[in-house]
Amino acid sequence: MSLIVQKFGGTSVGDIARIEQVADKVARFRADGHDIVVVVSAMSGETNRLIALAQDIQERPDPREMDVLVSTGEQVTTALLSMALIKRGVKARSYNGSQVKILTDNAHTKARIREIDDANMRRDLAQGSVVVVAGFQGVDENGNITTLGRGGSDTTAVALAAALKADECQIYTDVDGVYTTDPRVVDGARRLEKITFEEMLEMASMGSKVLQIRAVEFAGKYNVPLRVLHSFEEGPGTLITMEDDGVMEMPTIAGIAFNRDEAKLTIAGVPDTPGVAYKILGPVGEANIEVDVIVQNVSHDNTADFTFTVSRSDLPRAEEVLRSVCEKLGAREVTSNNKIAKVSVVGVGMRSHAGVASQMFAALGEENINILMITTSEIKISVIIEERFLELAVRTLHSSFGLEKDPSKEGSA
Ligand code: ADP
Ligand code: ASP
Ligand code: MG
Repeated sequence: MSLIVQKFGGTSVGDIARIEQVADKVARFRADGHDIVVVVSAMSGETNRLIALAQDIQERPDPREMDVLVSTGEQVTTALLSMALIKRGVKARSYNGSQVKILTDNAHTKARIREIDDANMRRDLAQGSVVVVAGFQGVDENGNITTLGRGGSDTTAVALAAALKADECQIYTDVDGVYTTDPRVVDGARRLEKITFEEMLEMASMGSKVLQIRAVEFAGKYNVPLRVLHSFEEGPGTLITMEDDGVMEMPTIAGIAFNRDEAKLTIAGVPDTPGVAYKILGPVGEANIEVDVIVQNVSHDNTADFTFTVSRSDLPRAEEVLRSVCEKLGAREVTSNNKIAKVSVVGVGMRSHAGVASQMFAALGEENINILMITTSEIKISVIIEERFLELAVRTLHSSFGLEKDPSKEGSA
């Protein structure tokens, strides 16, 4: 008998029929003798619906009130699933974040979990109840409702698993595991048996929303055995694993991630003097805008062009900040483009294999896809390209790196 945390995402609890199906599944695990904590998301589309309501009132509503609003979606599902379990004769009790309690900092709409009180959950489990917890939400030290950022129910699940020292955290969703790339974009995408925490973290950071980044961080930090599975189809799913757990022969590239949420700004003709990068990016940071890829080109007239990317929703504000910087520094102009995207190849095998970058650039070149910016880390290479080439780029790279093939059956890619 083990303690399992199971998280069901939005589409898996999207209507009553599915909630009943989830209840059947949880009931089966319970009948097998496992202790179960279930974390649920809001019914699919609900969080978006609530955000749209708020934005009908104001473009940037008050963050505290936003959290009060969007946290309601998850509360609905906890009650419905608990009812469905009770109907089946399974003891169940629902909890919202503050009832658990999941203590977070006070960064509304992107709060971080600080501490989890496991007393209520342990008591219920000891009494044979399934504990059903609302994902995505917590409470700050002053009792304000907070939320953990989009996709945050994954993080709730992993954090509960860490706090309870669960035997496994199972993320049930609408795909049967983590794939070499988004299976909705590339037909030939292949489910991975295993992926390392490090690779999963890069994949998530680079745009694969199958797991929230912080969930992966938590799992790595607290050693939580984590598996992604299909809610309604049987199968082994994908295990997120420590790299050196045995004789795993890692392929060079694990997968390809992409992100459309990118916009690019250039400030041209900046005097090329020490400290200028700070003079440009300092004000951007002060405006709470996160900068992603940065490139600086120096031209022969001793001026520099400085280009960086931000998330699309931050573009108007970033442009405003940059125009005032442009005036102050006597630079030539500010230009922007929000029709760009980022494609990343990720794999721990890159550490020991040279030539990944050149293979990537050659494959894109053959398809006449122009690379606008490049950035790398030890286990990842990302390029910024025009958005209209995104799907072609992902498909091209997927086949260039032989990701359709199963390396354990066909030799390493
Ligand atoms: P949930 O509502 O269950 O949390 P999400 O929509 O957040 O589900 O995440 C699952 C989706 O992630 C899949 O439907 C798939 O389109 C997308 N996805 C993106 N990249 C990948 C990948 N590499 N492997 C699997 N799914 C991916
Ligand atoms: N309901 C929230 C969202 O849509 C949290 C989650 O589903 O993980 O982002
Ligand atoms: Mg999700």
